[in-house]
Amino acid sequence: MRSMKSFFDRDRIIYFLRDADAGERRMLYATADTVRRECVGDGIHLRALLNISNCCDRACLYCGLRAGNKNITRYRLDRKQIVDAAGRAAREGYGTVVMQSGEDPVLTPEFISSIIREIVSRHDMAVTLSLGERPREVLRQWYDDGASRYLLKHETSDLVLYGRLHPGMSFTARMEMLSSLKEIGYQAGSGVMIGLPGQTWESLAGDIMLFRDLDVDMIGCGPYIANPHTPLGGTSKKDGNQVSADEQTVLTVTALNRLVTGDTHIAATTATKTLYSGGGLYRALRSGANVVMPDVTPSPFRDQYLIYPGKEPVDGIAGAAELRAELKKQTGLEIAGGRGDRVRCHS
Ligand code: SF4
Repeated sequence: MRSMKSFFDRDRIIYFLRDADAGERRMLYATADTVRRECVGDGIHLRALLNISNCCDRACLYCGLRAGNKNITRYRLDRKQIVDAAGRAAREGYGTVVMQSGEDPVLTPEFISSIIREIVSRHDMAVTLSLGERPREVLRQWYDDGASRYLLKHETSDLVLYGRLHPGMSFTARMEMLSSLKEIGYQAGSGVMIGLPGQTWESLAGDIMLFRDLDVDMIGCGPYIANPHTPLGGTSKKDGNQVSADEQTVLTVTALNRLVTGDTHIAATTATKTLYSGGGLYRALRSGANVVMPDVTPSPFRDQYLIYPGKEPVDGIAGAAELRAELKKQTGLEIAGGRGDRVRCHS
């Protein structure tokens, strides 16, 4: 595995992203599928995704949750709604709940602390947080309360593009928070959007190398889907070096992420399902991915967490049995039990 990681240097990664033919890509997906089996096994890990608030103080140019978007119905779940939803997920057999929100200051450290403590005291369940940038002492407190994983996508490692898409935000701050998470003891996750306007093949290769260099424990990379209610919504400028958000690119990124990281948990994202009906999600799971995140946010809020339009959330409670059966049938893989923490692979 070590030799595979070093085989994929920057030039080879760019080659597979941009230039490889269909046969070479098929071989890449198959190799990633083999490495996935050797390093993380044949079980698909299901994480219960609970979107607790769609309020956000930030203004990222591509995101439907951005402050200032008036074309979205805002919500914030109360304590009982969150704890009840986590309980339903636990009873449905999920070993992880992922509490996600925009950067919402109303979700105070104390509020989140009390919820983490209640969930871990009641259920044998890992708590993953995805609540944006927070001070180190707050992250430390939440870890001590019982949260064990944190997702913070870096979105793009191209500093110029990062600055253009994220007004008032700092790539350096994001990197510092990812290293703080690892130092505290969290399993840390990152990710990017594939096909962001202005993203080049070189910068996407840089993102993949960054996953390896940061030794992230979880990765989520989905296709960019334009939201008409954002400043980037109408962008359609294309040139030869612009990354496209097609299925081939998403599968290639998924496979390369597996090959450069080995035992990282890699999600087949909801956006992949939305954009590529007819099996994109299942193909991602046979090209290196091993995680699916069904949405357990209660109705009607599930449909209001709209980063992009046309979302097809997998109903993680009512549709859980059907989803499990379909995942097994379409991929030939099993559904993994337990919490699904990262386990180091030494093959
Ligand atoms: S990407 Fe995250 S931080 Fe940026 S506007 Fe959307 S929810 Fe807020």
